[in-house]
Amino acid sequence: MKRLLALLAVAAFSSLAPAAEPLNKVCPISGKPANAAITSNYSKTVAVCCDRCKSQFNATPKAYLSNILSANGVQCPLSKKKVDASKTVTYSRQVAFADAASKATFDAAPDKHIKEVRQ
Ligand SMILES: [Zn+2]
Repeated sequence: MKRLLALLAVAAFSSLAPAAEPLNKVCPISGKPANAAITSNYSKTVAVCCDRCKSQFNATPKAYLSNILSANGVQCPLSKKKVDASKTVTYSRQVAFADAASKATFDAAPDKHIKEVRQ
């Protein structure tokens, strides 16, 4: 019984734990320590060619960030084959900044600055 309860506790924990990455500790704009209270949500959705590319992306989204940023909507950013518009992937993460000015700089050109988020 004790063992079963432990297994249930693990299952409950893993279903509640968010898959999101932890907040970055360094502001990508100023290079100063980031304030967890000053954040932006970055999200970009692009089309891929098939479910295989989709699961490949979803396994390690960060590894494909530069592919996502250079996606042109014609070629799959993973395989370079023609995209299927019904198959999409989304890169999303929350970014923390040192101050409001840094957040404003990021928000003005998120695609340019998302690459500067180190962790
Ligand atoms: Zn594919």
